[in-house]
Amino acid sequence: MFDKILIANRGEIACRIIRTARRLGIRTVAVYSDADAQALHVSLADEALRIGPAPARESYLRPELILEAARRSGAGAIHPGYGFLSENAEFAEACAEAGLIFIGPPAGAIRAMGSKSAAKQIMEAAAVPLVPGYHGEQQDPELLARAAAGIGYPVLIKASAGGGGKGMRVVGEAAAFDDALVAAKREALSGFGDDRVLLEKYLTRPRHVEIQVFADSLGNVVHLFERDCSIQRRHQKVLEEAPAPGMPEELRRSMGAAAVAVARAIGYVGAGTVEFLLDQDGSFYFMEMNTRLQVEHPVTEMITGQDLVEWQFRVAAGEPLPLGQEQLTISGHAIEARIYAEDPQRDFLPSIGILGHLRTPQENAHVRIDTGVRAGDEVSIHYDPMIAKLIVWDTDRTGALRRLATALAEYQVVGVTTNVAFLATLAGHPAFAAGDLDTGFIERHRTALFPRISPATDQVLALACLDVLLRRTREAQQAAAASPDPWSPWHLTSGWRMNVDNHHVLVFRDNGTDISIIAHYRPSGYLLELPGGEQMASGSLDHNGDILADLNGARCRATVVRHNDDLVIVIQGRSHRLTLHDPLAHVGEQEDQGGRLTAPMPGKIVAVLVEPGARVAKGTPLVILEAMKMEHTIAAPRDGLVSEIHFSVGAVVNEGAELLAFAADGEQTP
Ligand code: ADP
Repeated sequence: MFDKILIANRGEIACRIIRTARRLGIRTVAVYSDADAQALHVSLADEALRIGPAPARESYLRPELILEAARRSGAGAIHPGYGFLSENAEFAEACAEAGLIFIGPPAGAIRAMGSKSAAKQIMEAAAVPLVPGYHGEQQDPELLARAAAGIGYPVLIKASAGGGGKGMRVVGEAAAFDDALVAAKREALSGFGDDRVLLEKYLTRPRHVEIQVFADSLGNVVHLFERDCSIQRRHQKVLEEAPAPGMPEELRRSMGAAAVAVARAIGYVGAGTVEFLLDQDGSFYFMEMNTRLQVEHPVTEMITGQDLVEWQFRVAAGEPLPLGQEQLTISGHAIEARIYAEDPQRDFLPSIGILGHLRTPQENAHVRIDTGVRAGDEVSIHYDPMIAKLIVWDTDRTGALRRLATALAEYQVVGVTTNVAFLATLAGHPAFAAGDLDTGFIERHRTALFPRISPATDQVLALACLDVLLRRTREAQQAAAASPDPWSPWHLTSGWRMNVDNHHVLVFRDNGTDISIIAHYRPSGYLLELPGGEQMASGSLDHNGDILADLNGARCRATVVRHNDDLVIVIQGRSHRLTLHDPLAHVGEQEDQGGRLTAPMPGKIVAVLVEPGARVAKGTPLVILEAMKMEHTIAAPRDGLVSEIHFSVGAVVNEGAELLAFAADGEQTP
């Protein structure tokens, strides 16, 4: 076993690897970019070395910097985590040349699976079932169109070098093929520097079921069962679980055997995942193999009781697999939810900022949290905006779902927009509970999953009022205690004044609308005049600053996080933002006329889709911005006229930069 390893990664996966290394008595070396100097993975590791500036291509993606750090630290092996250099065959080779052990598969196996088409040819030879399709070298558009017709529509065009759902196009009919091919090739070229594509029959309601495999250097190969990752948005996984709901034992055995055959066909060593599409009729087809640890590996660990990172260390050190196939069993059910700083209401646009308030559920045998951030850390534009993985386990799926709902309700993040409430809605959907999963789930249940932003409820408003009033009372009490005349009636905090119904008017701005609430002081609390009627409210603040409230006799607990005039009321995992509004301070302020269209985050302009002077309908895509490895479309907010475009393709823009001048119909050009 190794004495010291270097982890060529950051965030939650670096922290997760360090945890196992520490348990096994292996010393760890972290590497970090300038953006990560204070990051959690740096403080957890035994040593840490700076490798470069914030952008990943100048730090975490630079093999020579990582190798130099390994040399300086004296580490004997490198764990690449996932992403970054984990599937880079040249890096695996460079490690070997430098006398370091790469904790991953042999370079040849990475290469074999690096191209989707080459991988499919190998699989065909190994008699592993493939989706009917074309994955040859010939790329002539006419030949491809003929191949598509032969496969039968709908057809999926995929970038051979693709990943992360990029460069994929579904084509419904022959007439649309040529245009879709051009678009897919353009995206493939810009995303992967390679415009080759392959064609596949597009399955209409498949499940994504993948098999975890493990092989050692002595020729042993096992699988650690399946994970169902069907709940996806934009072809990216959102919820993952193991085992797959309703999986027949026979199918599990045959998919497991197919995955083991895939690993054997390429001389695999280490942890890998073979991804399949599972069709409604029980047929399954090889999609691709990921030659690394997956983000969702914890669900497999929870149901098998194994530590896959420990397995990786042992195999890389030349030891045999810790267990044989017959010794591996499934116990209970695990679900992982990926908690992201992103806005589901805005097509999952990443949200960047400081995690001003972060409170997580308690970890125990049923709840595991893999994270790389703490309160006060920043979600920056430089890396993936994942905040944490929340993994729950119970003896069966119903129990696991209940654990998930409870843990999500306890997850509090303020400072960035998150998908926590979306995950809760998703996990609580009856079709999800019924295990009726397929990759189109989110799209199909769109209306139920993306409710319109609803106005603050009376409960939320009452909690906001209580928070304001209780804090004022506390401040007044503190001021009185500090004053030379603490018993002066002017310091009375009960709101009592002789002969008047003493009251207070609080104005909150809720998503653009002002709501006035009158709070009358009463000996037992406050009588609030809320939009839905009167409520008696009383309560106290506990040592965490949480409110313990009594609203018309109903008790509840909530957290109210303050940032200047903003109040974020978090109750049962749902957050609602209100602004405490002083009407006098904003007299004369104009509503935003929507005359400027600005960059929602820093990024690069990758396409300008309209000409200056163009008249466009509401929703017309105008500019495409690439930020955080994803494309974001800026669309016309209303019908109107694009009078000017301020940037051209390739320009790098700051957050808030005005991209173009737009005049909605009936308005003057700004
Ligand atoms: P990437 O490498 O870009 O993630 P994959 O080939 O792994 O691409 O496919 C990603 C997702 O796209 C799958 O999980 C599935 O939801 C969908 N998908 C891929 N191929 C097909 C197909 N032939 N029919 C239907 N959906 C597909």
